[in-house]
Amino acid sequence: MKFKFWGVRGSIPSPGPKTNKYGGNTTCIEIRSADDDLIIIDGGTGIYQLSQELLAKMPIDAHILITHTHWDHIHGLPFFSPIHIAGNTLTLYGGQDFVTGQGIDRTLKMQMQHSFFPIEEAALQADVSYKTVKAGEVFNIASARITPILLNHPVINFGYRIDCDGSSLFFTGDYEQQLNIYQPDEAEYLPFQAMIDENVDALVELIKGVDAFIIDSSFTDEEYQFKKNWGHGTFSAAIKLAKKAQVKKLFFTHHEPTRTDDDLDNIYQQLLSENPELDCELFIAQEGLEIQL
Ligand SMILES: [Zn+2]
Ligand SMILES: [Zn+2]
Repeated sequence: MKFKFWGVRGSIPSPGPKTNKYGGNTTCIEIRSADDDLIIIDGGTGIYQLSQELLAKMPIDAHILITHTHWDHIHGLPFFSPIHIAGNTLTLYGGQDFVTGQGIDRTLKMQMQHSFFPIEEAALQADVSYKTVKAGEVFNIASARITPILLNHPVINFGYRIDCDGSSLFFTGDYEQQLNIYQPDEAEYLPFQAMIDENVDALVELIKGVDAFIIDSSFTDEEYQFKKNWGHGTFSAAIKLAKKAQVKKLFFTHHEPTRTDDDLDNIYQQLLSENPELDCELFIAQEGLEIQL
């Protein structure tokens, strides 16, 4: 299996001279099996660049796993050119929103309403279908085995483990390790903490030993003090998890829109010097970076 980053930015696209190296597009990862089966995780603006490359390879059969429906993970979907061309097949996978009860089909239909986009979902030329993903319900896409897990974020968010051709990858989507909402002297504190610990243990169990661990690392520890409960993780929390789970390669992603290339280079050097004994390789996710597992 191999994968390629097409978008690594969080929240909003951030093109410009200060983000040229790591890229300004929002989340999108292309995954290819040895048989060239195509799985895509998330449809941020990076998916548009991917779609331009796919135009030369049509007809395509694409499977897009959506971690969650915040804009930066879906706003490239209506611009995924192959959906406008007959002969292509697209399957969109995602969860059912706890609050609205709506499934992933509703997302594309809403994005493509008349007021927002010139072509409506019903007029799509490709063969488009939708599949609802449930936590812990394993499914297959060609030779790949997909395991979704629910991860803490303000909206329903799935992390996906993909096993294929004897290698493995995990992407968190947006993820902040849950904080205890109670004070240590409150009766609810310990049971709540036990629930948090159980969730983290389940995540560690699922990602144990994966070849590539791609994780939301939006904030530095200093920034995080002011961004608690925003639903995003830190570089240091990512390293902690990676150590616990003994992953082989750790990719920090979902870069803050204000984070420049120089900032990311500096953070990377600092992390290397602070973690000299780490068993896993560290990478800053970068647009265009392709890894053969
Ligand atoms: Zn995001
Ligand atoms: Zn989000």
